[in-house]
Amino acid sequence: MPEDDLLQRLRRFHDDAFPTQRSLFRHLVDDGQHPTTLFIGCSDSRIVPYLLTGAGPGELFLVRNVGAFVPPHDQSQGFHGTAAAIEFAVLNLNVQRIVVCGHTHCGAIRALYGEVPASATNLRAWLELGREATLPVADPGPEALRRTEQRAIVLQLERLMDYPMVRERVEAGVLSLHGWHYVIEDGEIHVFDIQRGGFVPAGLADNAGTGPYRFSEGFGAEGIQEPV
Ligand SMILES: [Zn+2]
Repeated sequence: MPEDDLLQRLRRFHDDAFPTQRSLFRHLVDDGQHPTTLFIGCSDSRIVPYLLTGAGPGELFLVRNVGAFVPPHDQSQGFHGTAAAIEFAVLNLNVQRIVVCGHTHCGAIRALYGEVPASATNLRAWLELGREATLPVADPGPEALRRTEQRAIVLQLERLMDYPMVRERVEAGVLSLHGWHYVIEDGEIHVFDIQRGGFVPAGLADNAGTGPYRFSEGFGAEGIQEPV
């Protein structure tokens, strides 16, 4: 996209799109934001949370990173924006839902089986947050990659439960966790349903995903363990 084109888009937003939602934004400024959902999604450009959920301004608190990963709460990874956003969303915004949204053809998941440029030291360390989800195959095909993507989502949900403020609220029944796997080519989210033991297309699901979860090495093969 040429630079001038980007400027054109900014002007178009201000001149054409903003006026149609002016009062909504005024309300969100005067009243503050009260989003009910924390959406942790992969940075992949093909995931468009507002399109997927039909949400508008003020409804989603967004965190996006490579792989839709959740770092450990013990701060062993050093400074971390995703961990800070989780704490803020739960403690300050009192969100009622946390969605972890991965997807098909995820470059982060594929990179777990391949090479990362030597100079990408932060990326190399970050990808370790998905390592436990990998399968013992050297050259994974599409099915193994899809299973790894799904296992990675469940792994992040389990790691969320290590955040004391998340666990406390999930156990009190005021916060729910949702694992979503977006199948880009079908335009359909598959939601993780612990009762059914796997990911279910939204068209066939009877809920938007259930939690909390306990990750299992056997997930996707021998099933998953009982809920916490
Ligand atoms: Zn991705």
